[in-house]
Amino acid sequence: MERDRSGAESRRAAVPAPPVPPGVPAEPPADRPTRSSEPEGPGTGASAAGPARRLTRQQWRNKQKNKRRQKNKLKAGPGEEKETDVEAGTGAGASEPPALEAAPVGRSAALRARMEERLLSARFRYINQQLYTSSSQEAVKLFQNDPEAFQIYHRGFAQQVGRWPENPVDRIIRYLRKRPASLVVADFGCGDCKIASSVRNKVHSFDLVPLSPLVTVCDMAKVPLEAESVDIAVFCLALMGTNLQEILEEANRVLKQGGTLLVAEVASRFEDIRAFMSAMAQLGFKSVSKELKGFNSLDDLLHVKGITTRILELNSQRMTCRRRPSSEEAARVSPGLQGDSKAPVPQAAAEEEDVSGPWEPERAGEGSPGSGPEANGSCGQEEQEPVSSTACGEQEQEEEEEEEEEEEGSCCSEEGEDGSNVYFYYTIGERWIDYLQRTEEGGLLRHVRPKMKRKSENGLDGRALSPGKKLCKGSEYSRTLGPCMPSPTTTFGDLRNAKAGQARRRRIPSVAPPPELQDWLRTFQRWSGPEKLLALDELIDRCEPSQIKYMMQVIEPQFQRDFISLLPKELALYVLSFLEPRDLLRAAQTCRYWRVLAEDNLLWREKCREEGIEEPLNLRKRRLLSPGFMYSPWKFAFMRQHKIDMNWRSGELKAPKVLKGHDDHVITCLQFCGNRIVSGSDDNTLKVWSAVTGECVQTLVGHTGGVWSSQMRDSIVISGSTDRTLKVWNADTGECVHTLYGHTSTVRCMHLHGNRVVSGSRDATLRLWDIETGQCLHVLMGHVAAVRCVQYDGHKVVSGAYDYTVKVWDPESESCTHTLQGHTNRVYSLQFDGTHIVSGSLDTSIRVWDVESGNCLHTLMGHQSLTSGMELRDNILVSGNADSTVKIWDIKTGQCLQTLQGPSKHQSAVTCLQFSSKFVVTSSDDGTVKLWDLKTGEFVRNLVALESGGSGGVVWRIRASNTKLVCAVGSRNGTEETKLLVLDFDVDLK
Ligand code: SAH
Repeated sequence: MERDRSGAESRRAAVPAPPVPPGVPAEPPADRPTRSSEPEGPGTGASAAGPARRLTRQQWRNKQKNKRRQKNKLKAGPGEEKETDVEAGTGAGASEPPALEAAPVGRSAALRARMEERLLSARFRYINQQLYTSSSQEAVKLFQNDPEAFQIYHRGFAQQVGRWPENPVDRIIRYLRKRPASLVVADFGCGDCKIASSVRNKVHSFDLVPLSPLVTVCDMAKVPLEAESVDIAVFCLALMGTNLQEILEEANRVLKQGGTLLVAEVASRFEDIRAFMSAMAQLGFKSVSKELKGFNSLDDLLHVKGITTRILELNSQRMTCRRRPSSEEAARVSPGLQGDSKAPVPQAAAEEEDVSGPWEPERAGEGSPGSGPEANGSCGQEEQEPVSSTACGEQEQEEEEEEEEEEEGSCCSEEGEDGSNVYFYYTIGERWIDYLQRTEEGGLLRHVRPKMKRKSENGLDGRALSPGKKLCKGSEYSRTLGPCMPSPTTTFGDLRNAKAGQARRRRIPSVAPPPELQDWLRTFQRWSGPEKLLALDELIDRCEPSQIKYMMQVIEPQFQRDFISLLPKELALYVLSFLEPRDLLRAAQTCRYWRVLAEDNLLWREKCREEGIEEPLNLRKRRLLSPGFMYSPWKFAFMRQHKIDMNWRSGELKAPKVLKGHDDHVITCLQFCGNRIVSGSDDNTLKVWSAVTGECVQTLVGHTGGVWSSQMRDSIVISGSTDRTLKVWNADTGECVHTLYGHTSTVRCMHLHGNRVVSGSRDATLRLWDIETGQCLHVLMGHVAAVRCVQYDGHKVVSGAYDYTVKVWDPESESCTHTLQGHTNRVYSLQFDGTHIVSGSLDTSIRVWDVESGNCLHTLMGHQSLTSGMELRDNILVSGNADSTVKIWDIKTGQCLQTLQGPSKHQSAVTCLQFSSKFVVTSSDDGTVKLWDLKTGEFVRNLVALESGGSGGVVWRIRASNTKLVCAVGSRNGTEETKLLVLDFDVDLK
């Protein structure tokens, strides 16, 4: 409850003096403001130190990060950018990103630039996603309709590539420079024509929009080149349309026999590199060399966050074959093979597995139920991803990145930043370059369909989504299944693929495909869009209802979209941020990607903020939680708080720690901060206790009269006594640092702010002291009776007195700015939030005043007796009364929101209270401490119930932190020994 106590301050049971009304506890006449809410109060004192430390750490980390970024840039980016600018004379689009990267000097400008950069990279990724999930013809339209998209795409692209240790296009350029300049090159998807401008060869550069005059604008699926006119065809990060086959066939067409095809692509885009290679073989290409490492220098990779070959190893493991042969092939390969000849697995079932199946963390490394050879082979579509230590290694890299970003994010509140970086690093680790040579017998093979992952399988930001996909038992088995299955067109298959790992279209296994089918389909594929529509129209007309129904079954699921997975990560997280934590946890059960999202650290930081949960205790290095899922400190903090709340509400009440002291005297005041408890007593002493061990660490001896008020911050304790003095103590050493003389009667109340404390006395004056020097700075005179309660916010002093008035003071000028009149009896308790003053009086009313005007805004009626303790926070006031009830008020409206009463209500005067965002804790003369629900006003349970309750045992004071409750108990008649009880509601930290 500590975290909620901020703003609480001193307000608590003021104990009535002599003329005791019926039901008012016979408590010691002391008033003790508690600390906490003031910035300098004990609670905030600790947090005041916090930010400074945090800032330093953050600054340090940011500095480190910037250094690394700089290093990266020096290593890869700038050099290449220079080459691009000088040699290629690139268009504006390509040269802009460096400008974007050049950090503006001012912090806000830097922040803005970073935000812009992030936005740009999100838009880039979105367009990139579109390019990878639509056909090349659609890509043509995309850029025709939105020329700006192309500019954005290229800026984002250049920016992205600029961060990599090596741009694959430079590799290709180096390769070309080693080969004869007489060779003719075709650069498919040339972008800024870096190749054409960097080599001496004749280069045909094709792209959708001319970034350079060297570009021939066309769809790469149909380039204006003669057949067999090119020696080297290049696809550098440009093999993006869904009509891959068409595009590769076009490359095949223009390549000479023995010509070379260079493909540089993100490996994670390949569902199965083997399948791709074998499909390429069927297209007539033979692999000449394959460099899975992708880069010459492993150092580069290590430099970029230690990405090592382990990732690549993982990647290669993931390259399992998921193809299903055609029924012809199946029959050829092995008629007995379950997958091929069996009836198709219902698509819904396959979808369930990957899309909506429950997440099973423990099973992550095992085959999922039903994913054995049979089940898997039957659809042949299971995404199989071994979970291995290497996968963990990769994850850790990612986590480190995320943590860094999160750290930075926490300083600049940059949501989604982590996403883009994950993308970056993932991508680098998985990039590969392949050299393929057209063979002698090169030419079109039928039924070839290189299978590339659609972008959405990777997550929109390009990262493999599958940090922990299940290893399918059937993987080895299905790998043997042979060549790619025939697929007439990629269109629907691709649509289907857009849903991670779903089954493809149902086949009709019982019927052998008619021999003309493939020709028929190829003819169809050659037609233009409108021709295809026309043909479909005719086809539909000729279909039986059952065939239409079948079509419906196949098509309909294609239009169901898991939009969360399809959205860019930033947007998906934004959508999820509207969910309640409970629903977030449910959403995490939906599928792996949702779980990854629902584990997002920044998302949970927001949830924590909403709940008022402060910085996680252990913002330690983020670690892997289970394969593929990383530890989120904020989520941990949230869950921990939830468990603590549940402990308060219903956890088993273990035997409290019992701290015995002060003999049979009354504990008049209680302070609790950190792990230190300070009790003041009318035995003239204060005791310092450890809340952890229960040990009495110090006894502060020196007062010559009872102690009736105290304040504490860190290790400084201030006490007020009937001996007319205040004393400043060092709680660590027990030493009395200062004795403050001046008051001529009992010091009844005090409030500490920073290094200044204001004391109120029975001598009707208030004094402002410097606790460091022990000097009395000001004396405030004006009250005509004992001062019972005081509040000080560093500027104004507010005091309540037995003269029925509340006074507002300007301590510097020692003048009273307002005398608030209205109460018709003594004022015992006060709250002051800088704007409102709330005063509780023996006249049974509570008044709300405006500090500036001195007007009484509300008179809160309802209590029957003295309001001895109050706490005010965020316009919510909780008042404890000698009438044995507690009321919750809205001081803005003056409305009583709840009365904490009912069958389980206190049986006697309320002595003390404290409230958090969820609970109210109250203590009473009846010997109990009760927990109530703040929102509903319902009684939750008794936290303490003294056996002597009702026969003399009382709870005088309570103080609570988030996890602990300290109660000062005893009796005046000897039925209950004086002691402190410490209850613990903490949870085990794992
Ligand atoms: N190869 C360049 C650019 C890669 S970006 C480099 O590595 O620097 C991918 C390029 O492919 C973009 O310029 C995009 O416009 C182009 N592209 C995508 N689909 C295309 C298509 N169907 N026809 C022609 N170019 C295409």
